[in-house]
Amino acid sequence: MHGIIFDIKRFAVHDGPGIRTTVFLKGCPLRCQWCHNPESINKEPEQVQKTVWLNQKAFTKTETIGRKISDTALWEELQKDQIFMEESNGGITFSGGEPLMQHQFLSSMIRRCKKHGIHSCIDTSGFAHTSTIRELEMPDLFLFDIKHIDKDKHLQFTQVDNELILQNLRFILEKKIPVRIRIPVIPGFNHSEEDQEEIADYLTQWHQQIEQIDLLPFHAIANHKYHRLEKEDQMLKAASIHSEELEKYLPIFHQRDFRVTIGG
Ligand code: SF4
Repeated sequence: MHGIIFDIKRFAVHDGPGIRTTVFLKGCPLRCQWCHNPESINKEPEQVQKTVWLNQKAFTKTETIGRKISDTALWEELQKDQIFMEESNGGITFSGGEPLMQHQFLSSMIRRCKKHGIHSCIDTSGFAHTSTIRELEMPDLFLFDIKHIDKDKHLQFTQVDNELILQNLRFILEKKIPVRIRIPVIPGFNHSEEDQEEIADYLTQWHQQIEQIDLLPFHAIANHKYHRLEKEDQMLKAASIHSEELEKYLPIFHQRDFRVTIGG
C-alpha cells in the first residue's frame, strides 16, 4: 500500500508526549485562511519554483513537494528513531494536511506502531466521513483541532462547517480514545474571550475525558510558502499572536477543570 507524504520531522516535542517523529501526509479538504502548510492542501505531489539570491543574482530551481512511499518503506525510515521514542516515552505522530484523507495508509501505519509497541498519535482537523472514522485503526492519542463552535464562522474561515467535526469528536470520545484538543487562536476569527468561552462551554460535557487543551498562537510565518505556490495568502497582513497574549484565556479553561497549556 502507498501513501503520499510531504515531510518527516524528527525530534518534535510539541506533537504529543515525549520526543516524536512526525509524518506529514499530503491532502486536506479544509481551506483555513491561516494555514501554515499550504503545500499540504493538494493531495498529489506538486512542483514549485524555489529562488535563492546570491550577490544580487537570482538562482531558480524546480522542487517537488510530496512523494509517494509504501507503508513498508516509511516504516523502515521511522524505525531509525525508535531509540529516542522509547527513551523519552515518545512515538510517532501522523499530521498533515489532513491525515484522515489517506485513512487506509494511515491505518496500516498505526497497526505497525501497535505491533512494535510504539505510541501513535493522529493530529487531525476531525473533518472526515464518519464511516472513515469507524473503519480507522485507532491510535493511542488524537490531537484534535477545535477551531470554532459557531458553524457559520467556521464555514467562512475554513470553507467547511463544523457539524461533521463535532460529530467525529463525540464518536472518538465515546470510544474512550484519549484526546487532546488543540485550538489555533487566530486574529479576527476566535481571538476573543467570548469565542474561547463558547469553546470551553461546549467541551465541558467531556472535561473528564479530554486529557488536555492546547492553545496555539498564530504565527505569521507562511508568506513565502504562499508565494512559492503562487497562492493567495489571506492572512498576509495579520500580526502574529505572542504566547503571553493567550494567558488571559487560561482561567476560562481552568474554571471548567481542564488542564490547559499554551503551545502544547
Ligand atoms: S486543517 Fe490544517 S492543513 Fe488543512 S487547511 Fe487547515 S490549517 Fe491547513
